[in-house]
Amino acid sequence: MGLTVLSGPSGVGKGTVVAAVRRLFPDVWVSVSATTRAPRPGETDGVEYHFVDDDRFDRMVKDGEFVEHATFAGNRYGTPRAPLERRLDDGLPALLEIELQGARQVRTAIPSARFVFLTPPSWDELVRRLTGRGTERPEVIERRLARARVELTAEPEFDAVVVNDDVEAAAARLVSLLITE
Ligand code: 5GP
Repeated sequence: MGLTVLSGPSGVGKGTVVAAVRRLFPDVWVSVSATTRAPRPGETDGVEYHFVDDDRFDRMVKDGEFVEHATFAGNRYGTPRAPLERRLDDGLPALLEIELQGARQVRTAIPSARFVFLTPPSWDELVRRLTGRGTERPEVIERRLARARVELTAEPEFDAVVVNDDVEAAAARLVSLLITE
């Protein structure tokens, strides 16, 4: 039990898999990150994220309020320390869904955590997901693909690998990891 960290390359569908985990396992406790990005339609402050401005984020960093924090696509994201520590101190399981730079910081801060790498079924499938609707400029797509190629090489740093071939199946595999010692 304890802490499980789900990470993986951008575009692999971490958020979608965690949403499926919530449906399968409604008692799951998922850390609510702070971010400086603007809410998307349908997102509520305090539910998907704590939406904060840059000054507030700076103060939280300075006051040591984050277990880890990172910048991703021009926005900042961080895992609040206090709620996670309370959960772990009570001996209860917890899940973080974060990008790779943050996962590496958690490995240093909480070495007992279990690290799960979510990977696409194939490179071609990740290319399809990252190119999306094809509305982005070619250089934006190129940048994403270059980043994803580097991110995929992080897999050996992880304790377990879950292939996101099918969202429900990947979520079921993640739940089984969450509930086993
Ligand atoms: P989005 O803006 O699409 O919700 O998330 C963008 C990326 O930020 C995703 O890869 C997500 O996993 C990551 N992320 C969300 N919260 C955190 C956090 O607290 N810390 C870190 N390092 N990454 C996060």
